Amino acid sequence: MTKSDNPNVKSIKHMAFAVRDAAAALAAYARFLHVPATTELKVYPKSQNRVALFNLGGIEYQLCESLQPDGRFATWINQRGAEGLHHICYEVDDIDAALAHAQAQGASLRICQACQKFGSHPHPEGWVAFLDNEAGGIEIEFMQVYTPEQLKKYQEFQGI
Ligand SMILES: [Zn+2]
Repeated sequence: MTKSDNPNVKSIKHMAFAVRDAAAALAAYARFLHVPATTELKVYPKSQNRVALFNLGGIEYQLCESLQPDGRFATWINQRGAEGLHHICYEVDDIDAALAHAQAQGASLRICQACQKFGSHPHPEGWVAFLDNEAGGIEIEFMQVYTPEQLKKYQEFQGI
């Protein structure tokens, strides 16, 4: 495949799935797709999620379970009546340019439920933003991954 015409999207950073039970979902990936069954289930206290995270076919998968009944993924499942692909995170060269492009096309921003912020803001791996517009029913997230220097600054700022 040739490089995309979209100057911003470099690759898929991750795909996040809303699941009722991250361990059960992981077990299916382990059984049918050879994902290590020993994959760690990480609990994120800030967002109150339990997540199985692994690479498959060169893409990071996140199987996301809300720990609270009114959590982001639980709410999504309840609204749709089924588990499924919740969002795709696109890695972009320049998140401000990606947002400007999307907003020029009529997109609006969706709040980051973990941080309660709209638009580009720092996450552990890079700056992220969510659109309030979906493509084919799939939420769109952008991420501009930190350079090693930016990562160091972020970690210093967080006291990591
Ligand atoms: Zn956030």
